[in-house]
Amino acid sequence: MKKNIRDFDLNNKRVIIRVDFNVPIKDGVITDDNRIRESLKTINYAISNGAKVILMSHLGRVKTEEDKEKNTLKPVADRLSELLGKKVVFVGETSGAILEEAIYNLQNGDVLLMENTRYEDLDGKKESGNDPELGAYWASLGDIYINDAFGTAHRAHASNVGIASHLDNGIGFLIEKELDNLDKAVNDPVRPFTVILGGAKVSDKIGVITNLVEKADYILIGGGMMFTFLKAQGYEIGSSLLDEESLDFCKEMLDKYPNKIILPVDCVCTNEISDNGEYRAARISDIHKDEIGADICLQTIELFKSYLQNSKTIVWNGPLGAFEYDKFSQGTKDILAALANLDATVIIGGGDTASSAINFGYKDSFTHISTGGGASLELLEGKELPGIAIINDK
Ligand code: ADP
Ligand code: MG
Repeated sequence: MKKNIRDFDLNNKRVIIRVDFNVPIKDGVITDDNRIRESLKTINYAISNGAKVILMSHLGRVKTEEDKEKNTLKPVADRLSELLGKKVVFVGETSGAILEEAIYNLQNGDVLLMENTRYEDLDGKKESGNDPELGAYWASLGDIYINDAFGTAHRAHASNVGIASHLDNGIGFLIEKELDNLDKAVNDPVRPFTVILGGAKVSDKIGVITNLVEKADYILIGGGMMFTFLKAQGYEIGSSLLDEESLDFCKEMLDKYPNKIILPVDCVCTNEISDNGEYRAARISDIHKDEIGADICLQTIELFKSYLQNSKTIVWNGPLGAFEYDKFSQGTKDILAALANLDATVIIGGGDTASSAINFGYKDSFTHISTGGGASLELLEGKELPGIAIINDK
């Protein structure tokens, strides 16, 4: 068990909390503040326990001097202040006397947000490359380190692995929630345990398939990746997405797990994946040479539902069709609706899968929607995330 923010006496301590404030900003305005909201529980806990709270986060990438202005955390400080209902001291520096003095002046319960950690990337990628001196310097600004940035936990940066290696440390409530849900669902599931996999390419998901095929009772395959599996079975897939280099992998999986891997029986075919173009329902044995499969269709939706209805744990990664287009979103929508009515543990992971669930109106319908894109995928792959591995056990 990882040490947790609850395991510390925070009173009168300088507590560095690494949060994930990597929010979308357009013309200086935050277009989605979900990531800020997700961090409030940990920040509020630290405030009410008398900590001097020092927040660090990255925002976007900083490669040139011009990127700095675009990626300042100033708008985040303003929004955070509104959400907390209290003043947030924003320091537009990532090192030096001004930052150090502002930290020195903090009273118990005060909150300070330091400028974008990736400003330090301009001079030799010090943040992203986990420069040891930078990690040691940032650690010197605090007494305790709490990592609550799940979205970057799969990367070893100075602001997570670097600082944590110098300070007594623990995880925050967001990372705790992610681990409790994702880790438990995958490694200690109530059965039957069914995995739904979709998305674009098989090659992006080989690690996920390899890890989960051993643990799950069924794997339902949709999305673009279904066509490489169908091709491996000898079907004509027309101009559908084909991941040539993964064909042998798909064959091997189908040979080894013929009753576990469940493939679609029909799909929505089109001449182009766009708002234009015609489309029709087709059996998978009837895809024409010039057609592209863009979604699963009615009989597959029913087939998938029959597996889901009996499942007690369901993990879903990867949309089942090109859901960005209304006419290819039915499979994803119908399966979301079916899952919302189940009495089962339902975990949604992956950037596009999570945003489709939220945008289609299912934000509060499931056990857990993971907030990390790459980090959730790596957990599903069974990998240890460096930003979590470095945290002390209890
Ligand atoms: P996640 O971000 O949840 O891990 P992915 O990035 O793997 O998911 O997959 C999402 C992408 O897969 C979407 O852009 C979607 O349009 C695409 N996709 C799904 N089905 C198809 C399909 N049949 N053909 C082409 N692209 C597809
Ligand atoms: Mg994606």
